[in-house]
Amino acid sequence: MKKIIRVITYTTLLLFVSLLFQSTSYANTVQIETDDLLVRSGPGTEYELIGHVNQGEDYALVEQTDDWLAIDFNGETGWVSRQYATITDQADDNHSTETETPINQPETDEQADLSTQAFDIPVDHLHLRAQATTQSEILAVLTEGETVTIVEQDQDWIKVLAQDGEGFIPAWLLNYQEPVIEGQTNLKNKVIVIDPGHGGADVGAISITDRYEKDYALNTAKHLEYQLEMLGATVYLTRSDDYYYALTPRAVLANYHAADVFLSIHYNSEPQYPSANGLNTYYRKDADQGLADAVHLGLLEKTNANDRGVLSGDYRVLRVSKQPSLLLELGFLSNQAEEKLIQTPAYQDEISRGIILGLENYFKYH
Ligand SMILES: [Zn+2]
Repeated sequence: MKKIIRVITYTTLLLFVSLLFQSTSYANTVQIETDDLLVRSGPGTEYELIGHVNQGEDYALVEQTDDWLAIDFNGETGWVSRQYATITDQADDNHSTETETPINQPETDEQADLSTQAFDIPVDHLHLRAQATTQSEILAVLTEGETVTIVEQDQDWIKVLAQDGEGFIPAWLLNYQEPVIEGQTNLKNKVIVIDPGHGGADVGAISITDRYEKDYALNTAKHLEYQLEMLGATVYLTRSDDYYYALTPRAVLANYHAADVFLSIHYNSEPQYPSANGLNTYYRKDADQGLADAVHLGLLEKTNANDRGVLSGDYRVLRVSKQPSLLLELGFLSNQAEEKLIQTPAYQDEISRGIILGLENYFKYH
């Protein structure tokens, strides 16, 4: 992830100026630098746990030792390891008497902070979209290193202000890791149709934590779409939002675009066997077995998931598609550990890398 430059906001400036004029100095604050940092009743790991604090939170400094900082923790004194916290807002030289007042950051300050973060685009050829969907108009193509300002953020999209105006980019870019595959790729100009399974009222499998397969499938599809586009492939999604489309038109889309490969993305569930885990790759036509083997091996290599095999399956999307087609079952949502893994951006990245590795191997011969 590229560095994020904090820009001093107008409101922060006002706050600062007003503090100057009030000439009240305030206590040092402790800024927490990691999530789930334990708070103890004394300066040592042998002391009782009284809670935890999270990255970016500020607390008034009460006391300090070489290794520990005491903070005002909801009115109590709590101790955190100095390794994961820093003292900020050094007190003025003319230290006043009214020091021990905790600084309660108003919530609006937090929002103002986010909304003015500058962000360096970590990738090249990034589409700035008019709306928070991959179906919407491309307003501009952003280049790597270009700095934009974050205006607003939700789970999937970030609204940014770029040179060419305001638009949307995918939120996972905030956690972007280096390119998937170095060097040459044979995916340039290949047409890939990705079908995120289910959608809308058809939620697919329901996970052990009551989440839906349709959402996991869409997330994976978008991640894969992006990585493939980075490598020069042309990608179409059968759905990019939470709508249900019938199965036949999904496969027809692959035929319409004369896709080099059609991939239907799914997650599995076997609630009566909560330990079931791993990957299946399905194909229907004999001609697609090589593609199935290549993608399956790529997935296993990158994810280290349990190998449940390459199988033939008579799925409708595979039947209707005239293009080389697979249906991927990328893990078990009924397995607690595997669902948790599937939720992590790192594992999603491994899945994308695995599929891409498989496709590259396949295209060496097709
Ligand atoms: Zn499914």
